[in-house]
Amino acid sequence: MLGDNYAWIVGQVAGSAVIIVDPGEAAPVAGSLASARQRLAAILLTHHHADHVGGVADLQSKTRAPAYGPRHESIPTVDRPVGDGDRIDLPDAALTFDVLHVPGHTAGHVAYHGHGSVFTGDTLFGGGCGRLLEGSAREMLGSLQRLAALPPATEVYCGHEYTVANLRFAAQVEPENGELARRLADATRRRSDGQPTVPSTIAVELETNPFLRCTQPAVIVAAERFAGRALVDETEVFAALRQWKDGWREPHRASD
Ligand SMILES: [Zn+2]
Repeated sequence: MLGDNYAWIVGQVAGSAVIIVDPGEAAPVAGSLASARQRLAAILLTHHHADHVGGVADLQSKTRAPAYGPRHESIPTVDRPVGDGDRIDLPDAALTFDVLHVPGHTAGHVAYHGHGSVFTGDTLFGGGCGRLLEGSAREMLGSLQRLAALPPATEVYCGHEYTVANLRFAAQVEPENGELARRLADATRRRSDGQPTVPSTIAVELETNPFLRCTQPAVIVAAERFAGRALVDETEVFAALRQWKDGWREPHRASD
């Protein structure tokens, strides 16, 4: 059981087929589709990590749905490789998505944008971003900038429920950011009520996510304090923030 993973079932019209984004496991998805009597038209994958693709083979054997995924990654179950600028038309589900290549977390990572939503996988999280496992700070910053340039009302569907921890870190970076404090309080309340914090919007992320705020004076000052030196550009500020977050543990949760 993958406790903090999100797989997104997307349907546009009542009664039409649906798609699934990043099924890390098959059973919860298959169960949800069966109980709602929904037919699976396609599987969309953002990157190759097992907690995003682990359920694909089983779903394919049950449904024969095609699997779209990043052209530049090796995912054996992908039969429709896609890359930057591609458009995916799914008439059965009345859905169309544009593909954005957003490297940094993994080298081939893609995001899917359409219908006022973007599926960001492990690139942009609520209040944070993915770790740099296969890419440079410059690549990840470029990817985040592309996502940040989407229309402000775009809903952000990410791959994990990390928002509260991310916002606690963000509050260390920007203790004076009132919007951030409000979002942290709201996200904390939602989690204690058993509710998701996802989706957010690009507008909310621009106001509260420090990794999208590397040109803000307060963020620069905090990153320079962490680095112990002057940082010459946005990429250096981003790299320092990412390094800071990699080593950061919540003070009162030092044991986990
Ligand atoms: Zn990942």
